[in-house]
Amino acid sequence: MARKAIPEVERLKVWVRAGGRCELCGTYLLEGRLTYQDFTLGELAHIVGQEASVKSPRGMDPLPKDERDLADNLMLLCRGEHNEIDRKGSLDVMTVERLRRIKRDREEWIRRLTALRPEAGTVVIRLIGQVRGQEVELTKPTAADAVIRSEERFPEFPLSLHGDGFEVDLRRFLHEETAGPTYWEQCKQQIDRVLEHKLGEALREDSVHHVSVFAFARLPLLVYFGSRLDDTFTVSIYQRHRSTESWCWPDLGEALTRFVTEAPPTQHPDVRDGVLLLNISGSIQAAELPEQLAGLPRWTIRPQGITPSVDVIKSASTLDEFTSVLRQLLSELEASHKDMQRLHVLAAVPVSAAVTLGRVHDANVHPTLVIYDRTDNRYTTALEIS
Ligand SMILES: [Zn+2]
Repeated sequence: MARKAIPEVERLKVWVRAGGRCELCGTYLLEGRLTYQDFTLGELAHIVGQEASVKSPRGMDPLPKDERDLADNLMLLCRGEHNEIDRKGSLDVMTVERLRRIKRDREEWIRRLTALRPEAGTVVIRLIGQVRGQEVELTKPTAADAVIRSEERFPEFPLSLHGDGFEVDLRRFLHEETAGPTYWEQCKQQIDRVLEHKLGEALREDSVHHVSVFAFARLPLLVYFGSRLDDTFTVSIYQRHRSTESWCWPDLGEALTRFVTEAPPTQHPDVRDGVLLLNISGSIQAAELPEQLAGLPRWTIRPQGITPSVDVIKSASTLDEFTSVLRQLLSELEASHKDMQRLHVLAAVPVSAAVTLGRVHDANVHPTLVIYDRTDNRYTTALEIS
């Protein structure tokens, strides 16, 4: 029996919904890979087989016969993959449910992407490190997905040798768990290498207007990383949320948290050193301060009306709120404590707030930030930002 032809309008729908690419591997199917000639290389594959027969792959599904040649039951695939999913050995793996899910996810994604205007691009930068031996999943697709879902931008990974975009990988540096001066220095250099050379190059070519930052590393490095991000472009900062295990900012309906600053009870206008405690995800007590900091005037930023906890910064607007309180404090110090040389920072903060601290700091007008690291319940100096 000859195979029935699929209606033209259904064919057209599948090609458009798939964006002209294989829905399994993403290969562009309107151009040859060897000759770059115009070809129509894709094939339409039935999810539920065309015939209700065991000979038709996945054909025994209850889907009515008159719905089997519709776009909803068809996937655009490369020839090789079409062949493979229809082989007996694949049928248990490439089930109707799995194929439908892949098709739906891919088509939703393409529809979102093609709705975005060209200026909605964002350059994705990933800082991939460890925190006490732990790593998190932070691949290109994970970052891309968060960007598209959270702010209706499309991700760009330009200009790198492997098409990975701007990736600062700190995982090869040893002794992270006992992080000492060598570790901090190696990581700083690696951050500089990528940001100054690669990103600098892109900036000179004027190809960066908006940056999306994804970071996971020890806190002092997050602050340093933030401090190295240029002011000439807009930055969105992402973090992995513990409550959802996702990098997407939760929906904007999230309640806004505000922050308050506690200043020292008495004025110290001519002091050269001050302490800043950022008690956002936890509370650092005065008793935990290193001895040499105990007598210094101390400022504290904490959430208003709630106890510090890991999920305090759960919306982008709460992060904005934190940013403006921090900015406000630094400009007050600049105005009222002109002799202050160093601000010693001890922070219990989520990733996004740490990157923000580095970003808000302006080396030209603010005191040097001395960032402390907590290891074995003791705070020690990790690095300085000046
Ligand atoms: Zn393919």
